[in-house]
Amino acid sequence: MSDYDYDLFVIGAGSGGVRAARMSGSLGAKVAIAEDRYLGGTCVNVGCVPKKLFVYASHFHEEFHDAAGFGWTVGPRAFDWKTLISNKNTEIARLNGIYESLLSNANVTLYEARATIVDAHTVEVGGERVTAERILVAVGGWPSVPDIPGKEHVISSNEAFFLEEAPKRAIVVGGGYIAVEFAGIFNGLGAEVTQLYRGDMFLRGFDDDLRHFLAAEMGKKGVNLRFNANIASVEKTGAGLVATLEDGSTIEADTIMYATGRHPLTQGLGLEEAGVELSAKGAIVVNDDFQTSVPSIYALGDVIDRVALTPVAIGEGMVFAHNTYAGENRKMDYRDIPTAVFSQPTIGTVGLGEAAAREKYGEIDVYRSEFRPMKHTLSGNGERGLMKLIVDRASDRVVGLHMIGPEAGEITQGFGVALKAGATKADFDATVGIHPTAAEEFVTMREPVAQAAE
Ligand code: NDP
Repeated sequence: MSDYDYDLFVIGAGSGGVRAARMSGSLGAKVAIAEDRYLGGTCVNVGCVPKKLFVYASHFHEEFHDAAGFGWTVGPRAFDWKTLISNKNTEIARLNGIYESLLSNANVTLYEARATIVDAHTVEVGGERVTAERILVAVGGWPSVPDIPGKEHVISSNEAFFLEEAPKRAIVVGGGYIAVEFAGIFNGLGAEVTQLYRGDMFLRGFDDDLRHFLAAEMGKKGVNLRFNANIASVEKTGAGLVATLEDGSTIEADTIMYATGRHPLTQGLGLEEAGVELSAKGAIVVNDDFQTSVPSIYALGDVIDRVALTPVAIGEGMVFAHNTYAGENRKMDYRDIPTAVFSQPTIGTVGLGEAAAREKYGEIDVYRSEFRPMKHTLSGNGERGLMKLIVDRASDRVVGLHMIGPEAGEITQGFGVALKAGATKADFDATVGIHPTAAEEFVTMREPVAQAAE
């Protein structure tokens, strides 16, 4: 035991901070954690968890329709937003409690207060100064909304989870995960939705085929997608909110949600004063061991702005704890991270998209299949799905796997293991399918699509 009050003081009890604190505590370190907002951070309170609950809620709309083709008569239906919000809040309070007991079971002292860094080994928390051999900053990120006139009238995803009323006319600005997910949520809950994206095609960085396919499917479900469009200003009038676009046209709405990225929450923490190097975007710069330019101060999760995903922050927390308190030499592996966008229909993806794979490997084979989910043969729902495998011709390794369709997240998680293990197309071919599923398509695709002359 060192001369400090704690071996480790963690600032921020989100996914990464809690995992690092718990793991370090269970490996024998004396640990404290400070959180001034909510236990569980963004993911539990205003991110992954309530978002997925909202996605479930918004799906019923289609499912009531789909049921008719199977012989069901569904009576009058109504949606009550307040019930959804209240049940969601109850569930999140339950999860906050679980996080509290996970911390206390690992002997982690919890300070429910804001902590700031005083120097390399000291934090100020709730009016008291506490010392620690190491300080770990895991304070996450916060939505960024550009400075437009009328910014005070718009919301971010943070507020979308606590709206008093369900939006009837919503504008969603942005083309990343959050924007496409919320466009689908508001649309499914009955709002008239316009999604505005400043570029040619949303979901930059994803496989191009997937992006176009999703745009078409979302359009079929009624989302009004407008690309190369952006808001110049917002005004509040008697009719609600009026957004004036950069081309001078206007759209009326009662909710305008910006999902234009998130920035690391590093301001006012005392980081720069302590000599911690920040990037131009305000992210904490760390080495492979999550150590900052001040050797006793570490950082991980969204605040280091590498890959802003909960399971990545958790993985980073595990690497930190095992290396620091169990003498291991783990490295976080950022390759082949599977991910899902809970758009409607859902995207699941792992590995490289077609263009990125072609750039990296040169000669690739692409296997592609469009399908109508079996359920929709009777439901009459026009939704279609897409599956793609990208194979490096030289090694036969599957280097990208992508899908759009029901349960894409669940399916991609399993195939993520195969890609991580370096599975070849021959391994996929040798795997027996499960019939009838959509996922079996991934092990039965035999003919590559013809390649355009390179
Ligand atoms: P992203 O960074 O993914 O997307 C931001 C979007 O906003 C981009 O389309 C970007 O356009 C656009 N944009 C940025 N600045 C402006 C501006 N000034 N005016 C207009 N448009 C702008 O951020 P999100 O907020 O969607 O999500 C943050 C992160 O959270 C994600 O990267 C992801 O890691 C994580 N997340 C993961 C989820 C999941 O796993 N399912 C769900 C939700 C979030 P352009 O492409 O042109 O830069």
